[in-house]
Amino acid sequence: MIRFFLLFSFFNISFDDSNTIHLAGIKFKVLQNGESDRRYIWLHGDEQTARMALERHMKSNAGKAFLVTGIVRESEFFGGIIDPNRIFSSEGAKANIQKYNRKWSRAKKKETLEIINKDRDPFLKEVLPKNGGLLVALHNNFKGYNVKKEVHKSDAVSIKKDQNPRDFFICTNRSDFDILAKSPFNVVLQESPPKKDDGSISWAAMRHGVRYVNIETRLGWLSQQTKMLNYIEKNLP
Ligand SMILES: [Zn+2]
Repeated sequence: MIRFFLLFSFFNISFDDSNTIHLAGIKFKVLQNGESDRRYIWLHGDEQTARMALERHMKSNAGKAFLVTGIVRESEFFGGIIDPNRIFSSEGAKANIQKYNRKWSRAKKKETLEIINKDRDPFLKEVLPKNGGLLVALHNNFKGYNVKKEVHKSDAVSIKKDQNPRDFFICTNRSDFDILAKSPFNVVLQESPPKKDDGSISWAAMRHGVRYVNIETRLGWLSQQTKMLNYIEKNLP
């Protein structure tokens, strides 16, 4: 409860901002700075460090950012909930509707899946960059999850001795990996489509031929996430 209220006090998304887009009722605030093919997305409302890093970044760097509106991990979804980073494939969305809304009728599950499937491509058309641009996703982790859990799924890895394993990049393009491997930060390359698409936006980006980098850091480590964001800004095309 205490943590909830602390997070709530950091929450400063204005509700009168009409510049929003949505996917199946899940609303995203849009921030644009100048004209650039750089795109950013923040998907989990409980990962407030990532939101702060991104909102600050957008004040002085060109690009377009999409920020989920909400302060919890799962978004409201037709009277139930859903993980906004599990809706970017039909297979992933179906499993996620089932996971969080078991008591729904079969008809309601089918109907809501159809709404996601109808909204997905128009949403991705707005969000995914054109002209070979880069999509940057920002996430924070809590206990447990770290780069070592990604190694077996990765095509190449560069893990630095002096870096916390909970701070790392995941990228899907080998040229980007080659650059990030020379950075001070941990990085893994995942350039092959997964056996099972869980509906994460990373795989949707891959299907559309879009370069993708996830900046994953410990919750609360704003300076670390900002450094990693700045490194991408300066070093990736
Ligand atoms: Zn996340």
